[in-house]
Amino acid sequence: MKMTDQARQVVTRFAPSPTGFLHIGSARTALFNWLYARARGGRFVLRIEDTDRDRSTPEATEAILNGLDWLGLDWDGPASSQFAARDRHAGIAREMLASGTAYKCFSPQEEIAAFREAARAEGRSTLFLSPWRDRADADHPDAPHVIRLKAPRDGKTVIDDAVQGQVTTRNDQLDDMVLLRSDGTPTYMLAVVVDDHDMGITHVIRGDDHLNNAARQAQIYHAMGWPLPVFAHIPLIHGPDGKKLSKRHGALGVGEYAAMGYPAAAMRNYLARLGWSHGDDELFTDAQAQAWFDLGGIGKSPARLDFRKLASVSAWHIAQMADADLMTEIAGFLALTGQPALSQAQHNGVLSAMYCLKDRAKSLPDLLEKARFVLKNRPIDRDEASQAALTDVSRGILSELTEQLQNDSWSRDTLEVILTSVAEAHGLKFGQLAQPLRAALAGRTVTPSVYDMMLVIGRDETIARLTEATAPAR
Ligand code: GLU
Repeated sequence: MKMTDQARQVVTRFAPSPTGFLHIGSARTALFNWLYARARGGRFVLRIEDTDRDRSTPEATEAILNGLDWLGLDWDGPASSQFAARDRHAGIAREMLASGTAYKCFSPQEEIAAFREAARAEGRSTLFLSPWRDRADADHPDAPHVIRLKAPRDGKTVIDDAVQGQVTTRNDQLDDMVLLRSDGTPTYMLAVVVDDHDMGITHVIRGDDHLNNAARQAQIYHAMGWPLPVFAHIPLIHGPDGKKLSKRHGALGVGEYAAMGYPAAAMRNYLARLGWSHGDDELFTDAQAQAWFDLGGIGKSPARLDFRKLASVSAWHIAQMADADLMTEIAGFLALTGQPALSQAQHNGVLSAMYCLKDRAKSLPDLLEKARFVLKNRPIDRDEASQAALTDVSRGILSELTEQLQNDSWSRDTLEVILTSVAEAHGLKFGQLAQPLRAALAGRTVTPSVYDMMLVIGRDETIARLTEATAPAR
């Protein structure tokens, strides 16, 4: 039976060069590949492109793996090293030599450089055409040489890109690329193609900074008689100002977003929407993203980073998340940012308050700030605004409130009756009473609702904090 494309198992890959941290653009590339494979019961593999020995470091590999881990993108099988497969790459170059799709070129570097310089000066094409392309073996000197692809001189190379459409390159615009250097090491272009072929990659989804490489890579596929993968070159991410993303736009590494306390699920949602869309859907779960993700939904123009949108996506995910999962997120965030873990009592306190914290918290630190009233013990330290809210007058009113809180049952309804009547008795709007009450309970003027705080910490603690706040100033 002939294998149709549909019958072939989807295999995608993420192929980072380990020269730094996990950039959010790369993270998005990884996410798209992961989504595409996961949605189709396919495999998603990780290949570390560590052939540049001067720039590749184990620390960078570690940082990339950690970034993917944090983002929750799991890959199938062990991560592979491109460098480790160099003998295989070189073997293919020699196979191509034997089959006549590649040739030995003895032109020295300096000669090629001089040719290019002269061509540039005279305004001619700088495309180097090796004089060795059609020379018989008998003419070959015993001298250092590279192996070049014998690329077609006529016609064109066409890539049917799933995002960019048909991309055509005239073959006379492409020189005979080097496959194997004179020191016997394979070039990046060869390594990528051999690896993608050997790993059975069916879909190459990557940044459109690699679009030019695709035509060259296609020539190697053709020379080897290998089927082309589906290419999908995605536009790069731009900054909020529409310019190419750079350091001045703010956080570039995935780790920085983790340290800002955005849950990974929110980051996946946000990154998925950066360049891909499914109708008007902005907020979605992983299951939805996997069900919906398709190459046809990837836009052709660069997506812009939007930190406000990220915050709102994050707020939605935090509100959605199960309380226990949020506790895990908080623990991870505290560890990541080098903060002490919550004590058992703090853990219990935050968990019991979670119902009133998770609405409208934009990030995990935001959630922890809202949880301040359960995290802090007496004496409550107060910021300036809450100190200012505790005037002599408001302290007097809070004392009166304290007395009224002694007897009745501790329920939202009774608390509402008491607070409303105290406010009314003093001709205050509710907010005018709530403000000093927040200051007394949390040491802040921005907090969850006073009812929630009182219900969570209970009558004794509420009264103790009110007593502390209303004690005559020393
Ligand atoms: N290693 C390349 C990079 O980090 C990716 C190559 C590819 O996806 O084909 O940009």
